[in-house]
Amino acid sequence: MGSKPRLGMWRASLPIVVGVLGLGLVAFSFLLPSQAMDQATPAPEVTDTVAADLEVTKAAPPSALPEPPQPTPGGPGGIDCGQVACVALTFDDGPSANSDALLDKLAELGVRATFFNTGRNTELRPDQVARQVADGHALGGHSWNHADMRKRSAAEACADADRTAAAIKAASGVDTILVRPPYGSWNDSVLAACTGKAFILWNVDTEDWSSHDPAKIADHAINDAKPGSIILMHDTVAETAQALPEIVAGLKAKGYELVTIPELFNEPIGPGQAIYSGLHP
Ligand SMILES: [Zn+2]
Repeated sequence: MGSKPRLGMWRASLPIVVGVLGLGLVAFSFLLPSQAMDQATPAPEVTDTVAADLEVTKAAPPSALPEPPQPTPGGPGGIDCGQVACVALTFDDGPSANSDALLDKLAELGVRATFFNTGRNTELRPDQVARQVADGHALGGHSWNHADMRKRSAAEACADADRTAAAIKAASGVDTILVRPPYGSWNDSVLAACTGKAFILWNVDTEDWSSHDPAKIADHAINDAKPGSIILMHDTVAETAQALPEIVAGLKAKGYELVTIPELFNEPIGPGQAIYSGLHP
């Protein structure tokens, strides 16, 4: 490790956890707010559900929302992802026409994930966002309509992120500070401008938006995963839901616990961070 990684909110808690400083440094060397990543050409993501969604009549938000369960740091049953190998499945771009099939499959498999919803699709399908929360999944925002945060002013990008978070709150009752920048495109000035937000990126891309092939999607998810990996998939790709049984079986066979993004860490995710992976043994 050449340069010291940026510690963000963890700095404040270091005096308390001096004993695990070494572990923390190793873990957070995977948080890579580097210029190299900033400059990388972002992978294109699907936006082809936009046309389909235009046909959907805008639904009214559910009138009475149950108190949402709040995902907490640390894995299910007290799993410590600093001690046990964990990975997090994440689904972008929804909710979509595929959401119910995807949520059914996750429930059947007993797996919880993290959904990065666009504001626009949240407004179109608030019931699915409420169901994501009711089923125990974690939520984040993915811009209002998939705009590249670096192709507009930082103020505009952050206002867009706030508007998206407000739509998610209206649909689900959940306040989320988590933002997945579309195309993985962000920079330090946008992150600094979006006060109160944390950017959640990924280090495994299943390329489901490109292949639409369940076998290839599963191969990437299972074989590219490392302890602490954040795995990128899309709510909008029907073949991803089809690949889930193989993905879950394959990851479990390799000894991974499947957790939500907040559960990848042992402390709440604070604002001002850009995260590509979680804690790992
Ligand atoms: Zn996307």
